[in-house]
Amino acid sequence: MLFSWFRNRRRRKLRDAPFPAEWETIIEDNVRHVARLSEPERLQLESNVQVFVAEKNWEGVYGQEINDEVCVTVAAQACYLIVGLNIGWYDRVQSILIYPNAYSAPQQFTVSGSLVVEGRSHRLGEAWYRGPVVLSWPDVLSGGRREGRRSNLVFHEFAHELDMLNGGSADGTPPMHSPVDAERWKSVMTEEFSNLCRDCRSGQPSLLDCYGAENAAEFFAVATETFFQEPVRLRRRHPQLYETLSHFYRQDPATRLLPAT
Ligand SMILES: [Zn+2]
Repeated sequence: MLFSWFRNRRRRKLRDAPFPAEWETIIEDNVRHVARLSEPERLQLESNVQVFVAEKNWEGVYGQEINDEVCVTVAAQACYLIVGLNIGWYDRVQSILIYPNAYSAPQQFTVSGSLVVEGRSHRLGEAWYRGPVVLSWPDVLSGGRREGRRSNLVFHEFAHELDMLNGGSADGTPPMHSPVDAERWKSVMTEEFSNLCRDCRSGQPSLLDCYGAENAAEFFAVATETFFQEPVRLRRRHPQLYETLSHFYRQDPATRLLPAT
C-alpha cells in the first residue's frame, strides 16, 4: 500500500517533467510507428516512456553502450504495445540487457516455465518472468525502423512478458479482460495456431512467420509482431485473429494506416 503510494507519486513526477526534445527526435528516427498515433495516444506513450526509462535497470553487455538512444528506442517500442493498457503491465520487468549484436545462444529452442529463449540467429532475445529482457541492439533498431516488415524483436519479447503475467509461464494467453474474452481467445487462437501449423507443414505461404508454429507462446508473440507491423494485411487475411488481438491490446492499428477522410 505504502509502496504503491510512493510509486504513484514518483511516477506522477516523472510524467510531469517535460518530454525531452532529443527523445522526440530519437523516436521520430527509430520508432516509425509512433508517427501514426493520435495526439492523445502519443502523449500517453511519451509519458509511459518517461516512467519506463527511469524505472528499469539498463545494462550493456560486451561493450554495448547504454545511452538515451538505446533506452528510448527500446522503451518507445515496448510502450507502443501498451498504449491501450497501462504501464502497470510491465511492473514485473526489472531490467533490460542489451547486446551489441545477435549473441551466442543455446541452439535448442526452449520454453521452460519462466524463461523463453529465442534460438533464431536473425533475431535473438530472451524474456524472463520477473527478470531481464535481453535484446540485441541491431534487431531493436531494425524492428523500430520497420526494416524487417513483419519482424519486431521488442514487440516479440514484450508480448512474452505480457503472456507470463498470467501465472508466470508463457503459454500464449496473457491476462484476459473478462471470462467472455478468455473463451473467445481460446477458440480463435487455437484455430489460428492450428491453421498456421498446417500451412507451415505443407509449405503454404503464410502472413504469419512459421516460428509461430513452434508452440502457443510463440504464436502469440509472432501474431503480436504481425498485428503491429502489418495490421492491414492481418485484418484482411485473419479478421478473427486481428479482432481478438485488437480487443486485448485495446488498439486498432489498421485504422492508423488508412488515409484521413
Ligand atoms: Zn519467442
